[in-house]
Amino acid sequence: MKLKFNKAVIVGPGLIGGSIGMILRQKKIAASVVGIARKDKTLTVARRRGLIDYGTKDVKRAIRGADLIVLALPVDAIKKTIKLIGRYVQSGCLIFDVGSTKREILKAAAKMLPKKVYFVGTHPMAGSEKSGPAHANSGIFKKSLCFVVMSDTTNRCALKKVVKLWKFFGARVELISAAKHDRIVAQMSHLPHLISAALVESVEKKNLKFAATGFKDTTRIAAADSVMWQSIFFSNRKEILGAIKIFESRLKKFKNDLEQNRIRNFKKQLERARGKRETVV
Ligand code: NAP
Repeated sequence: MKLKFNKAVIVGPGLIGGSIGMILRQKKIAASVVGIARKDKTLTVARRRGLIDYGTKDVKRAIRGADLIVLALPVDAIKKTIKLIGRYVQSGCLIFDVGSTKREILKAAAKMLPKKVYFVGTHPMAGSEKSGPAHANSGIFKKSLCFVVMSDTTNRCALKKVVKLWKFFGARVELISAAKHDRIVAQMSHLPHLISAALVESVEKKNLKFAATGFKDTTRIAAADSVMWQSIFFSNRKEILGAIKIFESRLKKFKNDLEQNRIRNFKKQLERARGKRETVV
């Protein structure tokens, strides 16, 4: 199976979309790479940095004749864009998204896209708290994990192609259902982000000048784009609320042991956490 496309369209050539555009161009996987964004500056930076061949705000014109479309916008914008492109996309086109939640996006794709357009949901567990085309780079996915959603309705040929693309980008692929994906990322990505933000909010501003490695390491992700993250949280509310509940009960255990002066219990909890953390590779 050849990885060759005639016209690839990156909707949202920011950090993730721009990095994909850069690889598609550098490795000549697509004859041309078109970027769609809202701001002129985004398109100018993306073009200047070689992430796209040219950019436009005209979705209808851009996707005419496209055989690959990458949706790399905030999660709620991906859902809206699926609805919009559904009206113009050509038959046989392969579409994949990179959004951080999967259930709602897959639902929108199943409902809004024509039959002979092949959609695959993906989520690269790569990136950073930085955003925009200025930070895109072609090495971003190397040795990272990428979730690729497989369901009964996923076209097998499209799935194989998307898996091959992600492996080519340097990622290790994990096939997963949308429901399982959303539960895992609620625990492993969304809860940590929320805690990181709550932690920053819990300290007095005047004390921030004393921040050292511990505080900096634990709160790095709180510096990420708030629009993107708000969209993620509200698209995965149920799973995140479940994860928060578990976290609250854990925190309460620590609090109770401190209040009751139960030193041994407290230490046991710390030791268990340490052992568990040491298994993270
Ligand atoms: P980003 O750098 O901020 O790029 C977002 C792009 O989408 C920009 O080109 C922006 O163009 C466009 N955009 C933003 N809001 C839009 C809207 N409402 N309508 C149309 N276009 C819009 O974001 P990113 O970090 O690449 O994230 C993109 C997607 O990847 C998100 O769904 C995110 O959940 C997912 N993701 C992110 C990471 C990460 O670490 N950052 C990792 C894995 C997955 P303008 O500047 O013109 O608005």
